[in-house]
Amino acid sequence: RTIYLNGTYMPEEEATVSIFDRGFVMGDAVYEVTCVLDGKLTEFDGHMARLERSLKELEIVCDITREEWLEIHRKLIELNGVEEGGVYLQVSRGTAGDRDFHYPPAGTPPTVVLYTQSKPGLVNDPKADKGIKVISVPDLRWHRRDIKTVQLLYASMAKMAAEKAGKDDAWFVEDGYVTEGSSNNCYIVKGGKIITRDLSHDILHGITRGSVLKMAKEAQMEIEERPFTIDEAQAADEAFYTSASAFVMPIVEVDGVVLGDGKPGPVSKRLREIYIDESRKSAI
Ligand code: PLP
Repeated sequence: RTIYLNGTYMPEEEATVSIFDRGFVMGDAVYEVTCVLDGKLTEFDGHMARLERSLKELEIVCDITREEWLEIHRKLIELNGVEEGGVYLQVSRGTAGDRDFHYPPAGTPPTVVLYTQSKPGLVNDPKADKGIKVISVPDLRWHRRDIKTVQLLYASMAKMAAEKAGKDDAWFVEDGYVTEGSSNNCYIVKGGKIITRDLSHDILHGITRGSVLKMAKEAQMEIEERPFTIDEAQAADEAFYTSASAFVMPIVEVDGVVLGDGKPGPVSKRLREIYIDESRKSAI
């Protein structure tokens, strides 16, 4: 693969970053994953807007413009011949040359890395036809989940716990309510109504979430943005999650309880179709 590191395109084997980089020693970095369909970027502006917000919240200064980000994304897609997959982008605070809790002085350049991941089969994912199974785990993450940082250890632990239990993913629960999935936003459907947690510092403001809710509204579907419990999810007709690379993913089991007839429900299936169709049409 050809990757991008701090202004240079190079083979991945040649890319090196300082052992003192704050992304490496402190998890002091933010990231984005933008989906690629038909060799084009979906939801690019949404992901770049969230990146700008994450950087601002953490006071990481990175002067790459939106046009330049687009050029880098497109060049990597072209150089690596990606048709279906994604572009991973990470910006860390860089380093002043030694481990230090204090931020490095102003003017220290951030470390900027982008690379592509080719993943044919995102659209025709057999998992979406069958639906996936989730377990719940306590949400033990920090309280600024609205910032997309690379501090993903707890999300990794949750995914491993799900795998160990023979399931596909984990939902986080805090104060009795579901916050979000390990790497996605989650929803239940009851009596035709779509219920999903409202936006706050408790969850990542999913770009897919925003678009899916907008499309659901346009399709005259009823939406309620509020927290829900595991009990409520287990009594729901359907459930699903959203993320940039899984789009809308039907969920058919929550903590061992099968939802409805155990197959992806009509609302989930319809939203998946609409979302893939629309994001494909507006890809750039
Ligand atoms: N919530 C968390 C914790 C995530 O890690 C992600 C994606 O990585 C999402 C939600 C979904 O966000 P998006 O739709 O922007 O991919």
